[in-house]
Amino acid sequence: MPKFFAHLPTVLVLLALFCFGTAHAEHEPERAFAHEDAVIEAALDNYLIDFPESYEEAIAVLEAILRTQSADTPVMSRVRTLTYYGIDLWYADRAEEGWQVLSDALAIAEESGVTDAIAEARAGIVSLHFDEWNVQEALVELEKLERIANGIQSPRIQYFVHNLAGRVLQSVSDHEGALGHFLIAAEAVRKTQPELQAGRRQLLNGAIAYLQSELRNYETSLEYADIAIELSIQEGFYYDLGDLYLLKGFLHGELEQIDEGIQAHEEAIKWARENEQHEVVLLSLNNIGSTYIQLKDYEKAREILNEALTEAIARESVVTEQLLRFNLAYVEVFSGSYDRGIEALEAATERLRADYTDPQYADLLGYVAEAYIEAELWQKAVVALTEQRALNEKIAQSQREEALNELQTRYQANEQAVQIELLEQANELQNQVIENSALQQRIYVLFAVVVVLGSILLLILLRLAYKNNLRLKDVNRKLKHQSSHDPLTEVLNRRSFQDAMRTREQQYEQVQQQQYPDAILLLDIDFFKQINDQHGHAAGDLVLVELAKRLKRISRTSDMVIRWGGEEFLIYLKEMNPDNLAQYTERVLEVIAERPVKVADSELQVSATAGFISLPFDSVSEQELDWERCLQIADMALYLGKVHGRNQGLGVMGLNVPFEEAQQALAKDLAGAIERGWVRTVQVRGPELND
Ligand code: GH3
Ligand code: MG
Ligand code: MG
Repeated sequence: MPKFFAHLPTVLVLLALFCFGTAHAEHEPERAFAHEDAVIEAALDNYLIDFPESYEEAIAVLEAILRTQSADTPVMSRVRTLTYYGIDLWYADRAEEGWQVLSDALAIAEESGVTDAIAEARAGIVSLHFDEWNVQEALVELEKLERIANGIQSPRIQYFVHNLAGRVLQSVSDHEGALGHFLIAAEAVRKTQPELQAGRRQLLNGAIAYLQSELRNYETSLEYADIAIELSIQEGFYYDLGDLYLLKGFLHGELEQIDEGIQAHEEAIKWARENEQHEVVLLSLNNIGSTYIQLKDYEKAREILNEALTEAIARESVVTEQLLRFNLAYVEVFSGSYDRGIEALEAATERLRADYTDPQYADLLGYVAEAYIEAELWQKAVVALTEQRALNEKIAQSQREEALNELQTRYQANEQAVQIELLEQANELQNQVIENSALQQRIYVLFAVVVVLGSILLLILLRLAYKNNLRLKDVNRKLKHQSSHDPLTEVLNRRSFQDAMRTREQQYEQVQQQQYPDAILLLDIDFFKQINDQHGHAAGDLVLVELAKRLKRISRTSDMVIRWGGEEFLIYLKEMNPDNLAQYTERVLEVIAERPVKVADSELQVSATAGFISLPFDSVSEQELDWERCLQIADMALYLGKVHGRNQGLGVMGLNVPFEEAQQALAKDLAGAIERGWVRTVQVRGPELND
């Protein structure tokens, strides 16, 4: 049973009263302030107490007071007069002049640096913004005012400022904020001029009562409402009683104090009728009707609501008419007339949709759903409740947004300064960050460049070093090769053989372990001089190269083919079974002579003569007969081969007598030793030659 809608419009009614009342309701006589003039203050107090009939008259009174003032007038009195004057000019439809006066008042106040004076002038400005319903601007100015509010000395100005702040905040539904200001204002009132205290208290208590009711603190609200009612009666402010009783009735209803509620509503109707406040009458009747619905006394409810409906139609109170129709339809439904009741309910709901605010309509939907449930229209009830929920969500959302907007506006002024400072700091910081990051980036880039260049350089150097190394190795290898090889034939040279023999001496123990001895085969090309002579030195060279190749081809990897001298070769054979030596020599002679050597256009038949011997020789130790001596023997054997017709090999194979006996002969006269039969030899023939 919607009755609480009732008090919403009345808030506006009372608020209008407020605007009028507070702009002029202040002063404090007990204490003389340093910046006050007692005579002017008294004159202004009187002006408030016996407030003129019209604003034109009020302006005249204030102008008279202003005429008594000069540059020496104490600043608080001067600013107070100008503030009242500015406000009254505005009310007398001279807004522009009013604003100018207030702006002058503020300039004077600010120049003096007196907080009270500045606060009063600023409060005047806030008050005019608010009267112009420029709430945003009022909030911005209020923010400036709030910042100096703590320093205000005069209780009158304290009251003026905080009462005003409460009104502004109340208008943007900042109930808590408004309440805080009203409570400070109420505290200040006690110290203001007694003649004006009651009126101020009545206004403040009423305002607080409405705020507490908005905050759903119904019991507290009721306490303030009762005080406001008492003060209204005491001070003869009968005009406010209709609204205050309507509120009281509503509060009792919420607290389920049925009798007190109806009684208060009846009081409201009585006072409202006296003051021709028709809306208050209709709402009170509606609320009484709602209470009877609550009590399920549908008969009584219908009676009162119908009475109210007739009056609403007569007064052309369109919105309240629909509210009454809604409640009547609700009664129909709950009396059992579902079809007619629902139809009327839907029609009233439809019309109220246009006039009601979202929160009002959301509440209405709750009752609509109840009626549908009563009529067993489940689906419709679900639809209504779904719509209600969606609407409540939307309200919550917009309330949050509004709160945010309001917050933003309120702290705009303050924030702007802070923000500018922050922005500047942020800017500076940003610059520094940018500078730093630029520097850092440059360092990174440089570092990267250094790294890359360094890496490249390193790579180049490494490659260079590597190449150099390779070259060095190559050179070394070549050097080594050159030092151990014969440059013409590419076989080993004499020096490398001497090195090998030195190594052999060092590893003598290992050599002694061998199954077979090593062997030395010395070769000398036959009639080589002739080749040179007949075909030229180059042809001789080619023959040397070709024969070296052939010798290499038939030798084992462990063997050494050495160019021993001009056209002499030495083959050193590792672990060569002496029994195989003759056969091997035969193969050597064959390989030299079997095929002619091609030199330019001619083919040269070449042969060689060889002398060979094992190392160690027979059972003779190398201490007694070293490699050089053995080589000498081989050389002697070769010589014998030459003597005996060339293209053959002669091997010195063993001793038939003790070494000591043969020693002398072996060293100098191999032929003699052979003749005496002291040594065993073997002769190998070279291949048949073509020419
Ligand atoms: P034989 O050995 O059969 O008694 O007769 P030969 O003609 O080979 O006689 P000898 O050993 O005395 O001559 C060797 C010649 O080889 C002498 C020299 O000019 C020649 N000779 C030595 N070294 C080289 C060389 O590197 N290149 C050429 N083309 N000839 C060389
Ligand atoms: Mg020779
Ligand atoms: Mg020769």
